[in-house]
Amino acid sequence: MFNVVNPPHYHTIPTLPLVSAPNFHQMPLLPALSRAIFSSSVHPLPRSFSSMSNFVTPSSSSVKARLRGVVFDMDGTLTVPAIDFPAMYKAVLGEEEYVSIRKQKPSGIDILQHIEDWSPDKQRQAYEIIADYEKQGLDRLEIMPGASELCAFLDSRSIRRGLITRNVKTAVDLFHERFGITFSPALSREFRPYKPDPAPLLHICSTWEVRPSEVMMIGDSLKDDVACGNRAGTFTCLLDETGKYDSPKYEHVEYKPDYKVSCLAGIHSLLEANFELAP
Ligand SMILES: [Mg+2]
Repeated sequence: MFNVVNPPHYHTIPTLPLVSAPNFHQMPLLPALSRAIFSSSVHPLPRSFSSMSNFVTPSSSSVKARLRGVVFDMDGTLTVPAIDFPAMYKAVLGEEEYVSIRKQKPSGIDILQHIEDWSPDKQRQAYEIIADYEKQGLDRLEIMPGASELCAFLDSRSIRRGLITRNVKTAVDLFHERFGITFSPALSREFRPYKPDPAPLLHICSTWEVRPSEVMMIGDSLKDDVACGNRAGTFTCLLDETGKYDSPKYEHVEYKPDYKVSCLAGIHSLLEANFELAP
């Protein structure tokens, strides 16, 4: 069992060559670099999102990529969605601005980013609204079906488990406490910059001393989790319970997952079929 880890201190992070977490100026180069330099085996999967809409995509190569760690999103991935995000965004932005931004950004609103430039007073009010919605979510916190089993499977193969959330540390602590499953490192939004910036994921790879190409990011958000994984150069798996990402509006989005599943129970067989699970 892993221990809860407090928000990290950048300056004490052990780093791998080329993936030093604080060196964000090189981030746009990282996916290509990390795949080209770090990947010791053939990437087994097609990169076309439309061809990944089925439950599990089998490997097309006899050479399996090595997988040493899995990093999970929390809300909507390890826990049943309990936060009404559209209602939260409307409450923060107002109906009119919400509709206008939604039109410009079909893949979703980054509310934390959006309020970053607001005046301190307006920003404080926004954070209060967000905190209120998150608190309501905590009251209804429920573990996602299949999460415990998947974690037990990973533990049985000694595969590392980490967590990255845009929620607060209190919520992560409550999750660990309530469900008795801990992730290490577990990074909340006190770790800056947060997802979809690749920094938290690169920090976890660095802490584990593994290459990003040996890690998978699993989450239910294309714009946060898949973007974070793509930018860090890890494998990505999108959890899409309702099939919402099959919509044509997501066909031309910038970030694509390597895999897409409709439930966590599908991931165990996906990992066994496509990866060499070697800690
Ligand atoms: Mg999520």
